[in-house]
Amino acid sequence: MIHPRKRLWAARAGYLLLLAAAAPILLWNGFVGQFNESFSDVLLRLRPSANSAGVDSIVLVAIDDRTAARYGPLPLKRSVLAAGLEKIAQAGPRVLALDIIISEAGPPEDDQKLAGALRRFPRVVLSAALAGDSPARPSWILPLTSLASHTVTAHVHAAPDPDGSVRSVLLDKRSHDRRLWALALEACRLFLSAGVPVERTNSIHLGGISIPARSWEDRRLRINYAGPEGAFRRVAFSEILEGIAKPSEFRDRIVILGVTAQGGGDRLFTPVSSGIGMSGIEIHANVARTILDQAFLVSPSPSAEFALAAFILSLCAFGTWHLRGWRLVLLWFSVALAILLGGWFGLRSGYLWPIGSMSAVLMVASAVSGASEYGLVRLALRSSERKRQEYAFRVQAIAHEIKTPLTAIQGQSELIADSSMPEEERARMAGLLFRESKRLTQILHAFLDVERMASGSLKLEKRPVSLRDLCDEVLERGRLYASRKKIEIDAGVPDLTVMADAELLSFAIYNLLTNAVKYSPKETRISLRAESNSGSVQIIVSDQGYGIPPQDQPRIFDRFYRVRRDESGAEEGAGIGLALVKEIAVQHGGRVSVESKLGMGSRFTIILPESVPLREGSSR
Ligand code: ADP
Repeated sequence: MIHPRKRLWAARAGYLLLLAAAAPILLWNGFVGQFNESFSDVLLRLRPSANSAGVDSIVLVAIDDRTAARYGPLPLKRSVLAAGLEKIAQAGPRVLALDIIISEAGPPEDDQKLAGALRRFPRVVLSAALAGDSPARPSWILPLTSLASHTVTAHVHAAPDPDGSVRSVLLDKRSHDRRLWALALEACRLFLSAGVPVERTNSIHLGGISIPARSWEDRRLRINYAGPEGAFRRVAFSEILEGIAKPSEFRDRIVILGVTAQGGGDRLFTPVSSGIGMSGIEIHANVARTILDQAFLVSPSPSAEFALAAFILSLCAFGTWHLRGWRLVLLWFSVALAILLGGWFGLRSGYLWPIGSMSAVLMVASAVSGASEYGLVRLALRSSERKRQEYAFRVQAIAHEIKTPLTAIQGQSELIADSSMPEEERARMAGLLFRESKRLTQILHAFLDVERMASGSLKLEKRPVSLRDLCDEVLERGRLYASRKKIEIDAGVPDLTVMADAELLSFAIYNLLTNAVKYSPKETRISLRAESNSGSVQIIVSDQGYGIPPQDQPRIFDRFYRVRRDESGAEEGAGIGLALVKEIAVQHGGRVSVESKLGMGSRFTIILPESVPLREGSSR
């Protein structure tokens, strides 16, 4: 039988292997992916707003609610737009990025004014978007050709995640016939006076900047938000029209102009915004600042992620194997804290660690080790309960073993009370009574010794013992016990010397004799013999009793095992006697065996190893 503890370890090892195999599923699934994003969002929100060179290079011009109220309705008339642009151009910005799609022709006079205003800027990026009406074969909504001379066209698409939050932007968008870069990328290119972007598999090079946007991820760039809405310098379009804005605000900067008025509808949800979301121009500004500051956020490669998960798993496995109780819980908390701190410091140095996946791995691993911990506690409880029951049985067994000599004492004392008994007979009986009660004490001692022997705390007191003397003494008591069933005990014990604990060995032989009496019919015979045989000593007790069914024979030496027939029989017992006989034989370096035939009788043999030169003849 496999030891339950071993089974538990096997189960634990199995669980951890299963967990390692399940790690890829744990790491890369939509739910955990979302979990990762939520964690990164929290960290991004906790970060203070950045005040960097990139942020300082950008100014937003907002067609806000006030502008709409005064100069609206939206979209603003092109003549109004042109008037504002003229004023901005006078202030000398380096780049104008217009986040307004002007694709349909308006009144020619107004369109001319607008084209004229745009020509006053050294560099202009105009917006385009893919039409949504035929998603299978989308076409571009491009700016008016009259505006497009001296300008660059860029796309203004956002790339919200499945939860609607904008965490990244696709730097490049294509239709079947044309491909456009993102507005922020083009604005940065013009700002840096860089040439056309150079594409590599893992990055896009813009001037001296290498942007980590992989080709197989549609050139997706993670936006490193400088902070919530308001992180960039911002001027209301109405203030420009009214001449309130300072021209110095625009000098040498990238001006991103667009609608922020709530009626304009150009707002999206982002990890750092709340409530009404973030305006489109602020998102473009954040993309541009990510590029200008080279503040890129990169996720670790799948293999790095797997290695980290494997490390966490091995830590948990180590804990499950070597730590218990609060130490194990402390380990889990420390790993959880390390994951969070790692995420925080990782973010500061541009790494987006998958905190969600790592936490999921930790949670599952700790749940597994928690479950096995629970299993261990249950196992310990069960084994202590079993020990308690065994102990209760033993107490019963002691009571039972004491009962046997007590019955004899009672019988003898009744006889003594008979006044017709001759005086010498009375004296002999009194002597017997004394010896029998002394035996009781000895039995108790022997029991306590066996208890201690079983628990490993008893050392046998072995010394050379005359087997014949020992058996004579046991026989005297055995015959007294057998007389109640008119059973005779024959003896044939040669004078052998054995190395033994006399107390315990006589206890074992007496037990075999009383069993022979208990499980034999009246007026039968029992024999006690001993012989020295090929270097060992055999002590044999045989009877003409009921015998033991073959299927029970291997089990009668187990503690508390009784043959079913005897459980309801007249002979009381706790099934402990033979277990003690076996224990005593084993402690002497020997063993005990049984041969039995139903209805014919049984033969028990205690085999002791030869430990002193065996001598026939008298010795003590
Ligand atoms: P107990 O006698 O207290 O029941 P033991 O451990 O001494 O416990 O014996 C275990 C069982 O083995 C007994 O209940 C009985 O069924 C069987 N047994 C033992 N000795 C004999 C025997 N000499 N003849 C037949 N059955 C025996």
